Amino acid sequence: MTPIKIAIIGLGKIARDQHVPALSANAAFELIAGASPHSRLDRLPHYVDIQALLQAVPQVSAVALCTTPQVRFHTARYALEQGRHVLLEKPPGTTVGEVLELVRLARQRGVALFAAWHSQRARAVEAARVWLADRRIRSLEVEWKEDVRVWHPGQTWIWRAGGLGVFDPAINALSILTRIIPGGLIVKDAELSFPSNCETPIAARLQLATADGAPVRMELDFLQSGAPSWNIDVDTDTGRLSLQAGGSIMKVDARPVETPLSEEYPSLYAHFAQLVRSGSVDVDLTPLQLVADAFLCGRRVQVDRYVE
Ligand code: NAP
Repeated sequence: MTPIKIAIIGLGKIARDQHVPALSANAAFELIAGASPHSRLDRLPHYVDIQALLQAVPQVSAVALCTTPQVRFHTARYALEQGRHVLLEKPPGTTVGEVLELVRLARQRGVALFAAWHSQRARAVEAARVWLADRRIRSLEVEWKEDVRVWHPGQTWIWRAGGLGVFDPAINALSILTRIIPGGLIVKDAELSFPSNCETPIAARLQLATADGAPVRMELDFLQSGAPSWNIDVDTDTGRLSLQAGGSIMKVDARPVETPLSEEYPSLYAHFAQLVRSGSVDVDLTPLQLVADAFLCGRRVQVDRYVE
């Protein structure tokens, strides 16, 4: 089969760290161009935006949107209107309505649209989903804490409306929860801590409930010093499941469980290739919906200025 000619839009950290290596290692794709206002990649034809790119390189049939979230919608809408298949980095938009409109447009045009939740493809997530499928959850705790200065240096967009603040990493935890918990999740209460000079929260405490009413507690913090904590612990009627290191390590009752090797971005692109071949839509809106619900029902607390 001829490779899918793809371009990356937004040549920042995640494009370089993950998308370029995953595409280079996947024979189903041929990376032929990139667009970004300032950044460029060696040996890759470069354009300042998606409009210039698609005009100059019309043979591009798919685009991976690795931009800041605030420009995701209009970039995606343009790509879909031009009949291109689209992979959306997380979060798939800044509002639920934006993403619903992209889904409508992709279906209308018969092209692929993929909301790529990379953490759902972390090594132990599928094993955790299977383990939980026939157990009764009693309670669940999530700790998602990291040092924003280490993991997001210079990324001022995170602090602007639509940038999600601490929910930029925490939406990964929510994407794992929506994959592994049978039934839905409901946000009951949220406390969101906004630095006095930022438009997005730097920390949050959330109370949610599973469909059966089991309590779910989330502690989110962007000012953790030292190693990050990306952990989920689930107490069930027959033991305690722990997902650690962002979903890559699974333990049951503190004993490690062996899980098959798998890598997040190669797995995303293997799936995207299938979606492109069939012109299908795969958009899980639930993680973004849960963040929106936390903002809808959450109490706002003002905290100290954030200075990088
Ligand atoms: P980043 O390093 O700040 O990169 C964002 C890039 O978007 C910048 O290079 C910027 O271009 C580009 N951009 C902004 N407006 C654009 C436009 N109109 N057209 C084309 N490109 C545009 O941020 P990042 O860490 O890569 O994150 C990007 C997205 O990936 C975010 O949604 C984030 O949540 C997600 N993500 C990040 C990570 C991570 O570990 N960093 C992991 C998974 C997912 P210029 O540099 O040219 O100005």
